[in-house]
Amino acid sequence: MSGGLIQRIDMLNCKHATMLMSQGMDKKLGALQRVNLRFHLMMCGGCRNFSNQIMLLRKSCEKFPQQGSPIEQLDNE
Ligand SMILES: [Zn+2]
Repeated sequence: MSGGLIQRIDMLNCKHATMLMSQGMDKKLGALQRVNLRFHLMMCGGCRNFSNQIMLLRKSCEKFPQQGSPIEQLDNE
């Protein structure tokens, strides 16, 4: 394995992706996790739907629009 700063982007499976989204609700994901998640969401409509749902859930629970969706957060860094 040759050293390098660029880590390989692995495809997440849906289970892992939804897990990351749930985690992203409560705490920040690592940079690699967010990239992986974004990649997965680009290609997986099912997980995009799931992401939208938990986003709505979160918004209905919290009145404060302080943080957007996990997807939006991907771009804010
Ligand atoms: Zn998926």
